[in-house]
Amino acid sequence: MLQLNRVEKTYTNKKQQIFALRQVTLQADKGSFVAICGPSGCGKSTLLFAAGGLLKPDSGIVKIEETNLYMISADQRAQYRAIKIGFVFQQFHLVPYLNVLDNILAASLALKSINQQMKVNLRNRALELIEHFGLIDRLLHVPSKLSTGERQRTALARALLNQPRLLLADEPTGNLDDENTEMVCQHLATYTDNGGIVLLATHDQRVASYAHNIVQMSDGTISTGT
Ligand code: ADP
Repeated sequence: MLQLNRVEKTYTNKKQQIFALRQVTLQADKGSFVAICGPSGCGKSTLLFAAGGLLKPDSGIVKIEETNLYMISADQRAQYRAIKIGFVFQQFHLVPYLNVLDNILAASLALKSINQQMKVNLRNRALELIEHFGLIDRLLHVPSKLSTGERQRTALARALLNQPRLLLADEPTGNLDDENTEMVCQHLATYTDNGGIVLLATHDQRVASYAHNIVQMSDGTISTGT
């Protein structure tokens, strides 16, 4: 279970303070798909970064299962993130000089103390994901030789390599056509059917319609959950 309790984050620029998150409280249970909807600048990315252990809030609590993410050390948090949290972004963020297989395996680089057997298991898991995401013919292609849909499926496979409990997706379909948008949403839905939690930021209502719970966000505040 993911829990955010009264989370606040303010950015301070030279001239002004921006209240990106104001007392945000949110809960997502195992197997749930939550869409955060709202206009650009309302705080969606900040919420996902805070939920994923990438951005320490000014106050409030972020808990995944029994772990209070910002009460552990930065090292422990990095390790926790590598094992339990997957990220998918609009811009894919693949490594340009690595092929599909190595991009997916890159998710294991942050794992500490991997022995030979674990390496073999990770490679097998990467190959399973490649098959699952229909990328078998693209195994040795670098990102520039892939379609946008294939790039996002590679990024999804990378996010799922370590079998995370939580998947955070920031406008993951923003660069995709309708067909690939639907495909990505269906993969996210399958992940939650298997017990994962998805927290997805989008301003596309079609994408939000895949979620079990739609949360509206405006000006740093969560207004409704359906
Ligand atoms: P969204 O994902 O909904 O577009 P963001 O979480 O990216 O919203 O941003 C929320 C607000 O915080 C915006 O006004 C944005 O300009 C501001 N913001 C985001 N990141 C920073 C930063 N690093 N420094 C200053 N302001 C920021």
